[in-house]
Amino acid sequence: MSEPTTRPFTAASFNQYLAEHKLMGTRCPTCGATYLPPRAICPACHGDALEWVELSGRGKLAAFTSIYVGPSAMVAEGYDRNNPYVSGIVETEEGAKISARIVGVDAKRPDVAWIGAPLTVTFLDRGEGEAKSTVLAFAAS
Ligand SMILES: [Zn+2]
Repeated sequence: MSEPTTRPFTAASFNQYLAEHKLMGTRCPTCGATYLPPRAICPACHGDALEWVELSGRGKLAAFTSIYVGPSAMVAEGYDRNNPYVSGIVETEEGAKISARIVGVDAKRPDVAWIGAPLTVTFLDRGEGEAKSTVLAFAAS
């Protein structure tokens, strides 16, 4: 099986990988920096030879917030003032940071002790057929 490493460095490609349950970033072979979401040009050294790399999926929580009034897609999933969810910034072990849903924690009891907690990537599939989408999430491990 040939690895499709030639996909364009776009959000659409990133989401396509998510649907395949892969957390893919881009890595700059010149300076070694890793980017999430993917970038085509390295902001650190302006290199343009970036390549797709699958991340380990391990990271730690850098910041988070409990959300009581979310966007309509979250309301449709049943989240509201009585059932909040957690969104956070995860720092992957490769050093890239990305915002993601945080699962496996009690959104009603946010705890500053979560900062720095180890997390593992998980993929939340939503909808069916053409409406199918995959949400990037990290679970407390
Ligand atoms: Zn670079």
